[in-house]
Amino acid sequence: MKYSNPLENTVFFNSVYRFHDLDAYENSIAEGEFIYARDGHPNAKILQTHLAEWEHCQWGLVTSSGMGAISSLIFAMLSSGKKLLAGMRLYGRTLKVFQKDLTRFGIQVTLVDECDLDAVQKALQEKQDLFFLESITNPTLRVPPLLAIRELTREYGCLLAVDNTFASPVIFRPMDLGADFVLESLTKIICGHSDSTLGFVGGNAWKTEVTRSVCDLGFNAGPFDCHLLSRSLETLEMRVKRSCENARELAPWLNENYPALRVEYPGLKNHPDQVTAEQQMGALPGHLLSVDIPGGREGVNRFLHAARDIPFCPSLGHSTTTCSHSWSTSHRQLEPEEKIRQGITEGLLRVSLGLESQEKIREEFAKGLKAAGT
Ligand code: PLP
Repeated sequence: MKYSNPLENTVFFNSVYRFHDLDAYENSIAEGEFIYARDGHPNAKILQTHLAEWEHCQWGLVTSSGMGAISSLIFAMLSSGKKLLAGMRLYGRTLKVFQKDLTRFGIQVTLVDECDLDAVQKALQEKQDLFFLESITNPTLRVPPLLAIRELTREYGCLLAVDNTFASPVIFRPMDLGADFVLESLTKIICGHSDSTLGFVGGNAWKTEVTRSVCDLGFNAGPFDCHLLSRSLETLEMRVKRSCENARELAPWLNENYPALRVEYPGLKNHPDQVTAEQQMGALPGHLLSVDIPGGREGVNRFLHAARDIPFCPSLGHSTTTCSHSWSTSHRQLEPEEKIRQGITEGLLRVSLGLESQEKIREEFAKGLKAAGT
């Protein structure tokens, strides 16, 4: 086109590129151009460049899912005889892969209470290779003290990887506190529209190793999903802030109006990590809160039937408010006693706040809680 250019990027569906001769092919390799989509394509490059800027890391790679990002990092960094230290509150599938699969390959996996610095120090004394944790945990929204943890991992020569999915780089950047790797399930609030499944892993060192893992093992992301995610990045900051503001307004309202209700939100004074959350994330410690609906499973069903505009769907980060039931979804595999030990009751609903007006959200909560008998 002579005078106009498309305002938005297009989607490059090509799986392979052509070269006019062998010299062009060699030059293309030398200059890192696109050759074969599993190794890289324009839509992945655009997205991962923007995400690396968001996360303050020197390199970033997009993957086919959040689990793909986790697996590619683990494959790159660990092998038989290495030791992985993992937070005990990790996402269920992550824990399952760590405990059931990595151990099959001779990797030693130890779980630790990531919010207990003494326990972390004790575990690190055992010479761990990588410590993997989440910046906000699911569903009780605990916030591990990352600065102190980073000091300990440095002291004991262990790398630190932080899954930042529940926070997003809008409110928290683990790399700024010295993490070695940051990971995201882009499927959640970074996408924001529940219509693509992708992941991200980034860092400052180890680029070659992780890139090889993503490309050779086939954890790469497709062009159309990358294109959708690039669109989502344009509204990311606005969406995250608005959703977080809704959580910040709803939590104290629930406390005031339903004093008997257990509400978990790291911005509330009675949350065990309120001070850490404020230090690390300032005034907006996430877009999630959890409420313990009286009446257990039956109470939750009554809530869901009455609060129709807070749909139950086992994910988070959608543009409208949704809820999930940790007991039967993310923590399904755990024994009931373990769930209770982690504060996960049959009534616990994890709510992911969206962009609606606060008034609308409160209306739905009032309907749901009344039906549940609160
Ligand atoms: N990390 C966290 C904290 C998650 O909650 C999830 C999924 O729920 C994942 C990783 C996995 O992401 P994905 O579903 O995109 O594979």
